[in-house]
Amino acid sequence: MRPKLVVGNWKMNGSRANNATLLAGIVAGVAGLDAAKAACAVCVPAPYLQQCADTLTGTQLAWGGQDVSKHASGAYTGEVAASMLADFGCRYVIVGHSERRAYHGESDQLVAQKAQAALGAGLIPIVCVGETLDEREAGQTNAVVTRQLTAVLELLDDAAIERIVVAYEPVWAIGTGKTATPVMAQEVHAQLRGQLRERSAQAAEKVAILYGGSMKPDNALELMAQGDIDGGLIGGAALKAADFLAIIAAA
Ligand code: 13P
Repeated sequence: MRPKLVVGNWKMNGSRANNATLLAGIVAGVAGLDAAKAACAVCVPAPYLQQCADTLTGTQLAWGGQDVSKHASGAYTGEVAASMLADFGCRYVIVGHSERRAYHGESDQLVAQKAQAALGAGLIPIVCVGETLDEREAGQTNAVVTRQLTAVLELLDDAAIERIVVAYEPVWAIGTGKTATPVMAQEVHAQLRGQLRERSAQAAEKVAILYGGSMKPDNALELMAQGDIDGGLIGGAALKAADFLAIIAAA
């Protein structure tokens, strides 16, 4: 059995004061978590990584970034290198979130390069894939997520693929309160697992595939009961300790 993984994506939210309360609430709630069964993390805006390192070191809650540069260092104003995230104790970094793809024009190839850069610094990239509403309605869901994952699989070797996390986030479900039904989500997760299996049976068994898109305390259990849904990437519900803890409890 793959252990479940629940990751909060804070997006561009937070303040030092609010984070302190939120993190303390989550840490208190996950103190007894059995790491063999479930792990949890928060991916925070880069300025708050030091706060995470200060307050989360030695706790059950890991932390990470929300984006990373494909470059190792140099004249890339505004970018953050994977080695810098590692320097602040990050375990994870989200790459290819649909908000980055949509608002910053990130291509499948760039997302793959970011995943590679993250792995090179010892981080676990959480590679996001997912279709828009138009694409779903046009029957292109499987083609879109396959294309997005293919770019990553082409760039990485088998050993690296085993270390990634994949997150299926249907764009139409993000922040909308509309969730993919467990059956709809499982169908896409199974397809992604199959694509991994074609490349490497071992990777297919190891790689966690998270669901993201309006996952809440009241739908988390049913979603995570599906055979290929290994956890969640949580937006809005990760900003309230009680909701985030309820989702971790479901895992
Ligand atoms: P919501 O949970 O707010 O729908 O956001 C999902 C998401 O984008 C996580 O990365």
